[in-house]
Amino acid sequence: MKELINEAVPRTLERIPRNVETVWLFESLSARRDTERAARDAGRNLRVRSAYKTLLHDVLEDGLLVGATSATIHYPVVDGCPDDRFRLECYPLHALCAGCDIRFEPRVHHGDGLPDYEIETPEGNTRVTVPVRWTKACDGSPVLAACGWQADRAGQGHPLETEFEYIFSRVCATMAALPLDPLNPDEPDGPVYFDRLEIDVVIPAADQPLAVGHECISLAEALHEEIYFASLEIFRHRLGLPAGARAVTFGQVIPRITVGKTPHLRMVLSHSDPVSDQDRGGRPDLETATTWLTPSEIANHLEALPGVPYHVISRQGRIVSGRYVAGTGNAMLAISAGQHPNETSPMVGALRAAHALADEGRVGFTINPLENPDGYAVFRELCALHPRHMQHAARYTASGADLSCGGGLHESAIRTRALEHLPASVHLNLHGYPSHEWVRPLSGYIPEGFGQWTIPKGFFLILRYDPREETLANSVLRAALDSLASFTPLADQNRRMIDMYDRYVSSRGFQIHAGCIPFTTHPEADPGYPVTIITEAPDETIFGEDFRIAHEGQYRVVRAVAEVLEQQ
Ligand SMILES: [Zn+2]
Repeated sequence: MKELINEAVPRTLERIPRNVETVWLFESLSARRDTERAARDAGRNLRVRSAYKTLLHDVLEDGLLVGATSATIHYPVVDGCPDDRFRLECYPLHALCAGCDIRFEPRVHHGDGLPDYEIETPEGNTRVTVPVRWTKACDGSPVLAACGWQADRAGQGHPLETEFEYIFSRVCATMAALPLDPLNPDEPDGPVYFDRLEIDVVIPAADQPLAVGHECISLAEALHEEIYFASLEIFRHRLGLPAGARAVTFGQVIPRITVGKTPHLRMVLSHSDPVSDQDRGGRPDLETATTWLTPSEIANHLEALPGVPYHVISRQGRIVSGRYVAGTGNAMLAISAGQHPNETSPMVGALRAAHALADEGRVGFTINPLENPDGYAVFRELCALHPRHMQHAARYTASGADLSCGGGLHESAIRTRALEHLPASVHLNLHGYPSHEWVRPLSGYIPEGFGQWTIPKGFFLILRYDPREETLANSVLRAALDSLASFTPLADQNRRMIDMYDRYVSSRGFQIHAGCIPFTTHPEADPGYPVTIITEAPDETIFGEDFRIAHEGQYRVVRAVAEVLEQQ
């Protein structure tokens, strides 16, 4: 183990300059209110606003829409940013202001001053200023970042660096300076430079759940996302790979953000221990499951299937198992789950469908129920801190690459094994995405490369196909869409999410089936199979009835596609 940094970080809230009348900080409402009260008791007039989602906080905290039945929010459109950026920052305001009909109107921001919103109601207009500053991403490209800010009595303002921003920039600088000494230079899929980089951060702002879906104001989650995706960007840039490349191998980055009064940062290079996270679960009922399965529960359900087992070994030494089950008919299906193991409903739906198909015996199939167990170990580790966060650091393999870019090595070989057992005509690649807003406030707000997924829009399907198989592709897609649209709880949930989505995103990048199931189609085949359906359940990270709906959706898609193949 090698310690890189271990330092306490001064809390900006405790060091507000004397001459300041208003500050914008990354702090929870209660801490900001306590500071205002203490200042008042000391005879000082001080307002402490939120530097994060400022419009949303100002409207709620100042009661700007109380009593209003309608409002138009003119949001700034800033040159160099996506048009919807400041509109998205308002999400999910309309649902928190019941009785007020909110419309959004873009307004081009001119000049060098801070952008602002204008809230127009029949009672009058209010302006809300947003503290932001231009910074640079690791590749030098400009980024408009949320920032701390201070303003004096005369209204003169300038940035005030907060612990939240300091910690992020310190982590990025440390990652950018880590020596690129390969642990093993001869690794065929590209060397990694560390096994685990653990980043333990304490920030003061506690999560604040909102009374809308799974929404929660969480600076801890935002910082986790910032650090994890910055690590990908930094190492990609250092290794000369293009933006968005998913084959970057450098090691496993694990940002663990906790909440406490005293901000702190510790970075340590360490090693994985696959033995320490083993569990001994049973075989819980899948149909009624309301929480994600442990690895042993997944293994036990797989073990109970008939057929031919196959396995490979993950990068960190965990067993990755699959099963080939022969059918009496000609239909052939491949089922994958757990490529991105912070997406938790696929494992349940895949196993349940596999058991149903095996019981019937007609359809031949392969199932890989947990393709990326190293990522799943990180997911479980992170869920111990924040069970409902999206945990994207668990998304890729232990090398840092997406499993689909693993070059057929380690865990990515499980796809090759499945294909060797059965050249299926359709691959069902089951996935999920965030159940609540996904942001990067310090890096342009909208996650780079994932702009489509920033707020949930329901259970979603993606079709990829070889154009020569267009007829088959369309018929399995149609069956999958119908199976979801006829599942009333899921269709209702989708309609609610799409209604929210449409209020904050000005153009849809997808089609909608039966008014409730979004989908996209792409005439390019994924490797190995002529037709692939990727499911996307808003399941990061959910429990209870919503979890049941998500895995039921996964199950229904597999069953519906199998039925079409049987009729071919
Ligand atoms: Zn995924």
